[in-house]
Amino acid sequence: MLTRLIYCSKVRPGVTQLDVKSILAKSQMNNARDGISGALVFTGGAFLQCLEGDRAAVNETYHRIVGDARHAEPIILSVEEIGAREFGAWSMGYLGYTSANTGLFFKYSAAKTFDPDRLPARVVLAMLKELVDQAHLLSSTPA
Ligand code: FAD
Repeated sequence: MLTRLIYCSKVRPGVTQLDVKSILAKSQMNNARDGISGALVFTGGAFLQCLEGDRAAVNETYHRIVGDARHAEPIILSVEEIGAREFGAWSMGYLGYTSANTGLFFKYSAAKTFDPDRLPARVVLAMLKELVDQAHLLSSTPA
Protein backbone atom coordinates (compact mmCIF):
# COMPACT_ATOMS: atom_id res chain seq x y z
CA MET A 1 0.00 0.00 0.00
CA LEU A 2 1.54 3.28 -1.16
CA THR A 3 1.51 5.75 1.74
CA ARG A 4 2.56 9.37 2.23
CA LEU A 5 3.54 10.72 5.66
CA ILE A 6 4.35 14.38 6.31
CA TYR A 7 5.76 15.60 9.61
CA CYS A 8 7.62 18.58 10.98
CA SER A 9 10.07 18.91 13.85
CA LYS A 10 12.30 21.43 15.59
CA VAL A 11 15.99 21.55 14.76
CA ARG A 12 18.13 20.97 17.87
CA PRO A 13 20.46 23.84 18.74
CA GLY A 14 23.92 23.31 17.30
CA VAL A 15 22.71 21.45 14.20
CA THR A 16 24.39 22.97 11.13
CA GLN A 17 24.16 22.79 7.35
CA LEU A 18 26.91 20.17 7.57
CA ASP A 19 24.70 17.94 9.74
CA VAL A 20 21.86 18.40 7.25
CA LYS A 21 24.20 17.38 4.44
CA SER A 22 25.07 14.21 6.31
CA ILE A 23 21.38 13.50 7.11
CA LEU A 24 20.58 13.88 3.42
CA ALA A 25 23.38 11.58 2.28
CA LYS A 26 22.29 8.86 4.74
CA SER A 27 18.61 9.37 3.83
CA GLN A 28 19.27 9.06 0.12
CA MET A 29 21.21 5.84 0.64
CA ASN A 30 18.70 4.22 3.02
CA ASN A 31 15.62 5.40 1.13
CA ALA A 32 16.88 4.14 -2.23
CA ARG A 33 17.35 0.76 -0.52
CA ASP A 34 13.86 0.88 1.05
CA GLY A 35 11.89 2.19 -1.97
CA ILE A 36 11.16 5.52 -0.25
CA SER A 37 10.93 8.87 -2.03
CA GLY A 38 10.33 12.31 -0.61
CA ALA A 39 11.53 15.78 0.20
CA LEU A 40 13.19 17.43 3.19
CA VAL A 41 12.82 21.12 3.98
CA PHE A 42 15.29 22.74 6.41
CA THR A 43 14.60 26.32 7.40
CA GLY A 44 17.28 26.65 10.06
CA GLY A 45 14.75 26.30 12.88
CA ALA A 46 12.48 23.57 11.56
CA PHE A 47 12.47 20.41 9.47
CA LEU A 48 9.53 19.51 7.27
CA GLN A 49 9.69 16.13 5.59
CA CYS A 50 7.54 14.05 3.29
CA LEU A 51 8.09 10.28 3.06
CA GLU A 52 6.37 8.19 0.39
CA GLY A 53 6.55 4.45 -0.10
CA ASP A 54 5.26 1.14 1.11
CA ARG A 55 3.28 1.61 4.35
CA ALA A 56 5.55 -0.65 6.40
CA ALA A 57 8.72 0.98 5.03
CA VAL A 58 7.40 4.51 5.68
CA ASN A 59 6.46 3.52 9.25
CA GLU A 60 9.80 1.92 9.93
CA THR A 61 11.69 4.93 8.54
CA TYR A 62 9.59 7.45 10.44
CA HIS A 63 10.14 5.63 13.75
CA ARG A 64 13.88 5.59 13.11
CA ILE A 65 13.85 9.32 12.29
CA VAL A 66 11.91 10.39 15.40
CA GLY A 67 14.60 8.87 17.62
CA ASP A 68 17.28 11.04 16.02
CA ALA A 69 18.88 13.49 18.47
CA ARG A 70 19.39 16.12 15.78
CA HIS A 71 15.76 17.20 16.03
CA ALA A 72 12.94 17.28 18.59
CA GLU A 73 9.16 17.57 19.02
CA PRO A 74 8.14 15.76 15.84
CA ILE A 75 4.51 16.32 14.83
CA ILE A 76 2.79 14.21 12.18
CA LEU A 77 0.88 16.57 9.89
CA SER A 78 -0.69 13.92 7.67
CA VAL A 79 -0.66 10.24 6.77
CA GLU A 80 -2.62 9.06 3.74
CA GLU A 81 -2.89 6.23 1.28
CA ILE A 82 -2.02 7.54 -2.16
CA GLY A 83 -2.40 6.35 -5.74
CA ALA A 84 0.89 7.78 -6.99
CA ARG A 85 4.04 9.40 -5.65
CA GLU A 86 4.51 13.17 -5.84
CA PHE A 87 8.26 13.03 -5.25
CA GLY A 88 9.10 9.81 -7.09
CA ALA A 89 12.18 11.29 -8.72
CA TRP A 90 13.88 11.87 -5.35
CA SER A 91 15.04 9.30 -2.79
CA MET A 92 15.19 12.45 -0.63
CA GLY A 93 15.18 15.83 -2.31
CA TYR A 94 16.48 18.81 -0.40
CA LEU A 95 14.57 22.08 -0.29
CA GLY A 96 16.52 24.70 1.61
CA TYR A 97 15.48 28.16 2.65
CA THR A 98 17.08 30.42 0.06
CA SER A 99 16.73 33.99 -1.14
CA ALA A 100 15.01 32.55 -4.23
CA ASN A 101 12.20 30.89 -2.28
CA THR A 102 11.59 33.01 0.85
CA GLY A 103 8.57 34.50 -0.90
CA LEU A 104 7.11 31.04 -1.28
CA PHE A 105 7.46 30.28 2.44
CA PHE A 106 5.78 33.60 3.20
CA LYS A 107 3.00 32.91 0.68
CA TYR A 108 1.89 29.88 2.69
CA SER A 109 2.41 31.32 6.19
CA ALA A 110 -0.02 33.25 8.34
CA ALA A 111 2.81 34.22 10.68
CA LYS A 112 5.93 36.10 9.68
CA THR A 113 8.13 33.14 10.56
CA PHE A 114 7.44 29.86 8.80
CA ASP A 115 5.85 27.35 11.19
CA PRO A 116 4.68 24.18 9.38
CA ASP A 117 2.89 23.00 12.51
CA ARG A 118 0.34 25.78 12.04
CA LEU A 119 -0.51 24.94 8.43
CA PRO A 120 -3.31 22.63 7.25
CA ALA A 121 -1.95 19.38 5.75
CA ARG A 122 -3.27 20.15 2.24
CA VAL A 123 -1.50 23.52 2.33
CA VAL A 124 1.77 21.88 3.37
CA LEU A 125 1.56 19.48 0.44
CA ALA A 126 0.73 22.30 -1.99
CA MET A 127 3.71 24.23 -0.69
CA LEU A 128 6.05 21.25 -1.03
CA LYS A 129 4.90 20.74 -4.62
CA GLU A 130 5.44 24.40 -5.43
CA LEU A 131 8.91 24.35 -3.85
CA VAL A 132 9.80 21.32 -5.96
CA ASP A 133 8.46 22.97 -9.14
CA GLN A 134 10.48 26.08 -8.36
CA ALA A 135 13.63 24.04 -7.67
CA HIS A 136 13.21 22.27 -11.04
CA LEU A 137 12.62 25.56 -12.76
CA LEU A 138 15.73 27.12 -11.22
CA SER A 139 17.89 24.10 -12.03
CA SER A 140 16.79 24.33 -15.67
CA THR A 141 17.47 28.09 -15.85
CA PRO A 142 20.85 29.04 -17.36
CA ALA A 143 23.11 30.77 -14.80
P1 FAD B 1 23.68 4.89 11.46
O1 FAD B 1 23.87 5.99 10.47
O2 FAD B 1 24.79 3.92 11.65
O3 FAD B 1 23.30 5.60 12.84
C1 FAD B 1 23.20 4.86 14.06
C2 FAD B 1 22.55 5.73 15.12
O4 FAD B 1 23.30 6.91 15.36
C3 FAD B 1 21.14 6.19 14.74
O5 FAD B 1 20.34 6.13 15.91
C4 FAD B 1 21.34 7.64 14.31
O6 FAD B 1 20.14 8.41 14.54
C5 FAD B 1 22.49 8.07 15.19
N1 FAD B 1 23.32 9.11 14.54
C6 FAD B 1 24.07 8.98 13.43
N2 FAD B 1 24.72 10.12 13.14
C7 FAD B 1 24.37 10.99 14.12
C8 FAD B 1 24.74 12.34 14.42
N3 FAD B 1 25.57 13.03 13.65
N4 FAD B 1 24.17 12.94 15.48
C9 FAD B 1 23.31 12.28 16.28
N5 FAD B 1 22.95 10.99 16.08
C10 FAD B 1 23.46 10.36 15.01
N6 FAD B 1 17.11 8.43 7.60
C11 FAD B 1 16.61 7.73 6.58
O7 FAD B 1 16.97 6.56 6.41
N7 FAD B 1 15.69 8.28 5.71
C12 FAD B 1 15.24 9.55 5.84
O8 FAD B 1 14.44 10.01 5.03
C13 FAD B 1 15.74 10.33 6.93
N8 FAD B 1 15.33 11.58 7.14
C14 FAD B 1 15.77 12.28 8.24
C15 FAD B 1 15.26 13.56 8.50
C16 FAD B 1 15.65 14.25 9.63
C17 FAD B 1 15.08 15.62 9.90
C18 FAD B 1 16.61 13.69 10.52
C19 FAD B 1 17.06 14.45 11.72
C20 FAD B 1 17.13 12.43 10.27
C21 FAD B 1 16.72 11.70 9.14
N9 FAD B 1 17.22 10.44 8.85
C22 FAD B 1 16.70 9.71 7.81
C23 FAD B 1 18.29 9.86 9.65
C24 FAD B 1 17.73 8.88 10.66
O9 FAD B 1 17.23 9.60 11.77
C25 FAD B 1 18.81 7.91 11.13
O10 FAD B 1 19.91 8.64 11.63
C26 FAD B 1 19.28 7.01 10.02
O11 FAD B 1 18.22 6.49 9.29
C27 FAD B 1 20.08 5.86 10.67
O12 FAD B 1 20.74 5.21 9.65
P2 FAD B 1 21.44 3.82 9.96
O13 FAD B 1 20.40 2.84 10.38
O14 FAD B 1 22.26 3.46 8.76
O15 FAD B 1 22.35 4.04 11.24
